[in-house]
Amino acid sequence: MDAQMMAFNPEPGDVVELEPMVRRIVAPNPSPMTFRGTNTYLIGTTSLAVIDPGPDSDIHLEAILSGVGAGQHISHIIVTHAHLDHSPLAAALSRETGAPVLAFGGPEAGRSTVMQNLSKSGMAGGGEGIDVNFFPDRHVAEGDMIEGPDWALEVLHTPGHFGNHIALAMGNMCFVGDHVMGWASSLVSPPDGDLTDFMRSCEKLRSRPWRVFHAGHGAPIESPAERLDWLMSHRKAREADILKALSAAPATAEALARQIYVETPAALLPAATRNVFAHLIDLQGKRRVSVFGKLSAESIFELR
Ligand SMILES: [Zn+2]
Repeated sequence: MDAQMMAFNPEPGDVVELEPMVRRIVAPNPSPMTFRGTNTYLIGTTSLAVIDPGPDSDIHLEAILSGVGAGQHISHIIVTHAHLDHSPLAAALSRETGAPVLAFGGPEAGRSTVMQNLSKSGMAGGGEGIDVNFFPDRHVAEGDMIEGPDWALEVLHTPGHFGNHIALAMGNMCFVGDHVMGWASSLVSPPDGDLTDFMRSCEKLRSRPWRVFHAGHGAPIESPAERLDWLMSHRKAREADILKALSAAPATAEALARQIYVETPAALLPAATRNVFAHLIDLQGKRRVSVFGKLSAESIFELR
């Protein structure tokens, strides 16, 4: 990780003005998956939108409410995706403020067919944990505008990290949730995550000229195009590793992860295996590999 990204270490609960109209409060949930904690954003100067209220935490709820100044109120609560570190506090914040919760849909919304089938066959989500109780008051979709008196956010559906993931564009700034982060390559873990969708969403974001990305975790990304290019090339390099290993012999995702992630500690191998599995499903969809029998986490894959 580069030094500038590592240096990001704000005090949880502090309300930090990033630029006019945009304030950030970090939730007290640091971890290897969430870095310093979830970033909650307050947008606007009178009628405020809250992006990603965060985990179920009374302390964080108080911190968000403390960010509402004289003459201000929260009018919108927007959730980028239904992982447990982003959406659970939406319900309590809505009760406190009366503001509706807006999102692409419930935890299953936006899932690709292949991931729906995996989930039906019993594969549970890996990673940050699904907020199964999350249901928004209002559904938003690609191209929708969410507006306050002095701000407007355009909804971009960006599935990949999670099926119901959205990014929110405000001029040449974008709130990108966990799709793009500066300190880590984003997690794509089936059945929450779909790599085919992830790459498509990267291309979609790449097609516009952005000034800055504000992510779900970590510092602002000042070179969005560069970061997207890195993310995509990182994934393509991993794909090449997998195809090379498969050219020697058919293998399971776990066996491939052991071969490719040689320097990864044993504790992180399950996450690496999910990542390889995400690639194998993507490659199967592109007809580069085929699977023996029914698709599952234990399937054996071979080159076509
Ligand atoms: Zn997150």
